[in-house]
Formats: sequence, structure tokens, C-alpha cells
Amino acid sequence: MTIQARISLVAAALLTITACSEAPNTETAGYGGANASELPPIGIVIHGGAGTITRENMTPEREAAFTAALTAALDAGYAILEEGGDSMDAVIAAIQLMEEEPLFNAGRGAVYTFDGGHELDASLMHGGTLDAGAVSGVRTVRSPIALAREVMENSRHVMLSAAGAEEFAAERGLELVDNTYFNTEHRYEQLQRALELLREQDRSGDHIAHADWDRAFDMGTVGAVALDRAGNIVAGTSTGGMTAKRYNRIGDSPIIGAGTWADNASCGVSATGHGEYFIRYNVSAQICSRVKYLGETIDAAGRYVIHEELLPAGGTGGVIIMDAQGNVSMPFNTEGMYRGARTSREGTVIGIYAEEE
Ligand code: ASP
Repeated sequence: MTIQARISLVAAALLTITACSEAPNTETAGYGGANASELPPIGIVIHGGAGTITRENMTPEREAAFTAALTAALDAGYAILEEGGDSMDAVIAAIQLMEEEPLFNAGRGAVYTFDGGHELDASLMHGGTLDAGAVSGVRTVRSPIALAREVMENSRHVMLSAAGAEEFAAERGLELVDNTYFNTEHRYEQLQRALELLREQDRSGDHIAHADWDRAFDMGTVGAVALDRAGNIVAGTSTGGMTAKRYNRIGDSPIIGAGTWADNASCGVSATGHGEYFIRYNVSAQICSRVKYLGETIDAAGRYVIHEELLPAGGTGGVIIMDAQGNVSMPFNTEGMYRGARTSREGTVIGIYAEEE
């Protein structure tokens, strides 16, 4: 089944998107001139957040900007894979581009906490070794995903948080910035709207459903999953979390199993959505477990968890999934998810919206 066909199963509307299919690239650097079709498959799939992303709320300029940013991230990751590079480098390259892009809620462009700052989370997992690294609540590290890699490769730990993570970042020579570096006007306006919603909640005593939050704000967590020629799957996720979160709140994105998971024996997953649900439903690991132990396809497993488990529970969001054969699935239960894939077998596809399945 083609990527396009798979996507149409999980989000019927994808084919109404800004889709651009390219012929698979046949460059074979480092592989003795073998035809690309004889080589093991490679690919990368990315997301830039899920939520109430509708055509009505979108301008052509904004849509073009997202499409360009997603394409640039895909191409950066894919170029590394195509040169015979590894999936870890591809995931880092794609995510770092998105961290630098203010459109996304990661790095510059991260949402504001309740008290007006930024606290960033990121995680990374290698499907061959099951090594993982994660950071949460960092305020001064320009690239949280780079720090997650440092934790994985150069510490005795899997997860570091707040001051300890920042001190480790400094020791490892990562670039540190003032917290205001992450400021953007549109996220500041979102914080003001969020604070207003919270005041309303206090006045009325009515709980604000996540869907209402979601309608009010642009999401934008970023993630990538890549497969290299050696058959290694790596998954990573980076985020500013949720607008107006309490200080030191930790979402799913830095939690291995919830926001990120990779295992060559099943698949790699990066998630985006209402983190509290993704943590409780252990979404990313659960999808891979269904593939591994039930023998489900990544489509079936992703669809089950996102539509049959999360949605009835009230959890909104989506995931990107890639398996060791280079198959891609991008199920989500919101009105849109910024997403894209580029694989040696299927070329490139970019998507934003969904309609009813
Ligand atoms: N999952 C992120 C969090 O809960 C937010 C998002 O993906 O939009 O922190």
C-alpha cells in the first residue's frame, strides 16, 4: 500500500492537502553505484503539531510558510539518510530546523508558561540499542533536542530536568540563551487569551475542555522518526509544552514511551497532543507494542490507539509512525496535524488538514 493510500485510511482528507509527490531520489552515494531500488529503504516522517487547524483559520501565506518549513525539515533529514548517514543525525537535523522556526512550538516560538516564561522538553530514542535521552523544563538551552542527545550519549542517565539539565548542557558546551530568546509575539497573544480563559473558568466554575483550549491556540510541538540504510529507527520530539502550563509541569514529549518511542523490532513514534492523556495511555510505546506483540500494521496500531482509545477518553492529538520497512502512518484525531514524509519508496508528501474520516 502506498503512503498516500495509508494516509487516506487514517485521515481521509490528507489528499486535499498541499501534497507534492516527487519521484524517489535515485542517488546512491556510498553504496557502490547500486540502483536505489535495490538498496534498503530509507525515510523520514515529521510532525509540527496537531490541533484545531482548519482551512477557515488559515491564510494562504501561513499555509505556504508551514509547507515550506516542513519541506525544509524533511529535506534536511533525508539528505543525511541518502548520503548513508544515520537516522539519529537525520532526526536531529530535521528537529533542529523546526526548533529554529518560530512557527512551531519548540525552541524559538515555544509557548509561554502561566507566569510568562518558557520551559522546554525534548526526548530521543534509538530503536537499535533502545538507548534514550530526555530533558524537561529547560529554560536556557537553544536546542533541547541536542541536549537530549547529549544526555543519551554522554551521561549515565536517561532524563535530566531543569537546573541539572542546564548545568549539564553548559558542561557539554551546548549553546545557552536567555529565556527571552524564545519569545514571540503570537505566542504572547496566545498566553493572554489563555489567561482570559482561565479567569472565565474561575468566574463560572466551568471546566475548560481541552478542545476549547485547542481551538484557541495553535499547537506546534515538533517530532521526527527516521529509518536509515542500516535499518535503525530513531524517534525524537521537542516542544514548549502547553500554553499557560504551571511552572515545572511536564508533558508527554520528554517521556520515553508516552511522547517518543523507537524499537527496530516494531516501529518508531513521535506524538503531539494533550500530553496528560498521552502519558496516561503510554501512547507511543503502546502503538509499537501492538505492532510487536499483536502483529498489527503500524496503521492499525496507530489508528486503534489514537481513535479508539484516546479519543473516547477525551485525548486529542496524533502521532507519526515509521517501521523498519519504511512504511509511514500519521493518524490524528484533531482537525489537522502539520505533517510530512519523505521516503525512498514513495517520495514526498506534506499534509495539514483532515476532514471527517
Ligand atoms: N504534547 C505536548 C505537551 O503536552 C503539547 C503538544 O504536542 O501540542 O506538552
